[in-house]
Amino acid sequence: MVPVVGILALQGDFEAHARVLRELGAEPREVRIPADLEGLDGLILPGGESTVMTLGIAREGLAEPLRELVDAGTPVLGTCAGLIVLDRDHLGALDIRARRNAFGRQVRSFEADLELAGVDGGPVRAVFIRAPWIDDHGPDVEVLAEVEGHPIAARQGNVLVLAFHPELGGDRRVHELFLDAVRAAAASPG
Ligand code: GLN
Repeated sequence: MVPVVGILALQGDFEAHARVLRELGAEPREVRIPADLEGLDGLILPGGESTVMTLGIAREGLAEPLRELVDAGTPVLGTCAGLIVLDRDHLGALDIRARRNAFGRQVRSFEADLELAGVDGGPVRAVFIRAPWIDDHGPDVEVLAEVEGHPIAARQGNVLVLAFHPELGGDRRVHELFLDAVRAAAASPG
């Protein structure tokens, strides 16, 4: 089965995610309007600029359909700006509060080797670009990794969020982990 994975394509780094998904045998679909969400097996909210993305979501009437998709249990991956868009103050898809540009604006773009809970085979190469961290989270949120004592990767139910860019840097294991969840959800009746 070839899973169809939507990528919010209003702005930002959606093409890089699409390339990785194709490489791993999934079919990417760019999402710009609510109809694009029909029948998706998974969804990625990419990095970019969270303010622009949030305005686009409102303009296209995507907020409610996106929340419905999360509530339906569809696996969702939010990276960098995508993490911010999913937080309490935006779509409310998981119980975290993101702090934007938490490491500083431009200067604090950096790479790190991270042990990420759930990813085997050694640390993940993580590219951070004007990244957020998670300032606060509720009890249902599982923190998967931290940098400087701040959570930068977390999961709540079907929603996985990362402050870094797994589509950059050549390490495919995060997308593989996500696609495992997508395939498992698609295989279990609804
Ligand atoms: N700084 C951006 C924001 O606040 C996120 C950066 C990114 O996605 N690489 O929206």
